[in-house]
Amino acid sequence: MVKERSLPRGCVLCYQGAKMVLFITGRCPRSCWYCPLSRERKDKDIIYANERRIQAPEEAAEVARLMSAMGTGITGGEPLIALGRVVSYSTHLKEEFGESHHIHLYTGLAPGKEVFLDLKGVVDEIRMHPPPDLWQEIGRTEYVESARIARGMGFSVGIEVPSLPGIGSLDAMLPFLDFLNVNELEWGESNAVAMRERNMVLEDGVHNAVSGARDWARSLLCHPKVHWCSSRFKDSVQLRKRLLRVARNTARAFDQITRDGTILYGVLESKGSISPFFNQLEPNMYEVREGTVETAWWVITEFSDQLEGVKTIVERYPDRGLVVEVTPVI
Ligand code: SF4
Repeated sequence: MVKERSLPRGCVLCYQGAKMVLFITGRCPRSCWYCPLSRERKDKDIIYANERRIQAPEEAAEVARLMSAMGTGITGGEPLIALGRVVSYSTHLKEEFGESHHIHLYTGLAPGKEVFLDLKGVVDEIRMHPPPDLWQEIGRTEYVESARIARGMGFSVGIEVPSLPGIGSLDAMLPFLDFLNVNELEWGESNAVAMRERNMVLEDGVHNAVSGARDWARSLLCHPKVHWCSSRFKDSVQLRKRLLRVARNTARAFDQITRDGTILYGVLESKGSISPFFNQLEPNMYEVREGTVETAWWVITEFSDQLEGVKTIVERYPDRGLVVEVTPVI
């Protein structure tokens, strides 16, 4: 059960799938063993808005518009390595969508007043990720002072970390925070070796959750400032709702939107000119792309015998995103 009333604003919007994820750089001075970044992103100075690679604030605004975003979460890498970029993108998003476009920023650092002065007015919420080797002594680290300064300047301030053994020590930070978010530790392609070295195992064969993660955080979970974000919730609610928002804004007349927020359509690849068959359809029921025809999946299956060429059904994320499955039609 999600305690929506007490959730930070950034989480409420995330719950609705209404937050765009702005990956501002893959560079990071740390090397956390559990880092979930893929090889394509880690240590690369590249920018993504959701799953789209971008290069300018205007492109970020375009992606936000496609999903009717009500806010943005800025992540990385270490976003504050690219402070100027964080400020210019946040400023542009606030100018485009207004003050109410809520922006939260992740950082592994404990920024001082100078940095917060740059962020003031363009970022609303700070989510700090102190390194696990400091957790036991967290009350004596610079994160306390950083949180105090930021809250004094009007930011909402929290800690957001994966659930690891020893996380219970972070209770010492609770008096200085507005919230503490605990993400269920997730197994991924980039951290699988490190997980095995630590004798960690998957909880089941379906999700990426690591067995024991909830137990490590158990002593914290009854505190009203602490929120547990499960791996299952991220996949089945957060991502799904975000994809659905994009799909509703971008699907063509013939795309079928699935319950998961992906889209389904049929593809015909044929040599030579476009089949005259398509002249019988309404113009918005097919699209020619680089010599192939995209149309409703059922057109490809029902009229297969009238269509010469390679026929497939494609399932992918909306807005020409990740291809999930390609099924041949014989
Ligand atoms: S701080 Fe974040 S991005 Fe950097 S290494 Fe750790 S988990 Fe990865």
